[in-house]
Amino acid sequence: MSFYKDGIKFECKQCGNCCNISGYVFVFKEDLNRILELTDFTMNDLQTSYLSTVDGYTVFRDKGTGACIFWDEAIKGCKIYEARPTQCRTFPFWKTLLYNESKWKEGTSDCAGVGSGRLYSEEEIDELKNKM
Ligand code: SF4
Ligand code: SF4
Repeated sequence: MSFYKDGIKFECKQCGNCCNISGYVFVFKEDLNRILELTDFTMNDLQTSYLSTVDGYTVFRDKGTGACIFWDEAIKGCKIYEARPTQCRTFPFWKTLLYNESKWKEGTSDCAGVGSGRLYSEEEIDELKNKM
């Protein structure tokens, strides 16, 4: 039985903490297609200034501070919010964090949105978890 069988409350407070920690933002084909469709960036722009490769996977570059390349300090938000990758859309409901309660607590301790807002059911959480 999962520790979240009764669901978990979550509502993003847009604190930006998950955009400013070290770690990779993986970018898959559907993510690239979404960015190309919803923003003015071209594939050439992305390849030249925003994308990198780690172990054969495409990731966003960071700013050298741990902040994602798309984090905009001036607006304290994501420059491509509507087109952000699935990894960003599904946080904090990641398989790695939902593995057990201790991983969950450790991995979401800096997320201001956990514990308030809408109650996500176990089924909804599992659906989000399986998107990555
Ligand atoms: S793409 Fe946007 S939402 Fe995702 S980590 Fe970067 S700044 Fe944050
Ligand atoms: S850390 Fe949590 S509350 Fe803050 S921006 Fe990320 S998802 Fe939203």
